[in-house]
Amino acid sequence: MNKSVQEKICEISKKLLTHGLNHGATGNVSVRIDNDFYITPSGIATEWMEAKDVVKCSLLIDEEEVSRMTKKPSSEWHFHQQVYQTRSDVNAIVHTHSPYASAISVLRKNIPAFHYMIALFGGSEVRCSAYEIFGSRELSQEIIKTLGPLKACLIANHGAVLVSNDLENAFYLAQELEHLAHQYLELLKIGSFTLLSEDEMTEVLLKFKSYGPSSQAQD
Ligand code: 13P
Ligand code: ZN
Repeated sequence: MNKSVQEKICEISKKLLTHGLNHGATGNVSVRIDNDFYITPSGIATEWMEAKDVVKCSLLIDEEEVSRMTKKPSSEWHFHQQVYQTRSDVNAIVHTHSPYASAISVLRKNIPAFHYMIALFGGSEVRCSAYEIFGSRELSQEIIKTLGPLKACLIANHGAVLVSNDLENAFYLAQELEHLAHQYLELLKIGSFTLLSEDEMTEVLLKFKSYGPSSQAQD
């Protein structure tokens, strides 16, 4: 039997937990369907989350509507909504507090092209946003600005955001970003390393267009 979107969101949220990419009630996951998005609830430990806890929101939802809801959507509904409103290519969002990506977000550093796999996120670096408090409209605006047309960004002193047209792929991106963040943090400890040039990254970006299953390389 086909799984419902709520079941899929719940499954991916628990996978983020078991893969060490989130813990407790941290992070959130959403999927867009037509003029709505389905998002994890606010403040519920992922371990105990059930499909019925996932909240359906209109793409036009506002503060007042959220304040009247008995089942509260993730406190980060602003940025999930704004990403869907501004990126027609995005249908799924994963937000993590994964350890290494979060550590780099505290350094407020972009992750440069130290490894060719950075191209997986659509450009030659993964940028880090300015700091704004969690769950705010201001944070949402920073995320939109920092993400641009890419598939990932770090959010200062907080974590990471991954966007894709597909939920499984958004999870895969979260895993890859965490691996790269781990490697980059090790390199920062050593202090000297060689970055790929713009030309080398342009070549990788081009090669990625025809590499692997389309759900991973191009979504
Ligand atoms: P929510 O439980 O409200 O989604 O908050 C978790 C989080 O990661 C806030 O940035
Ligand atoms: Zn968060």
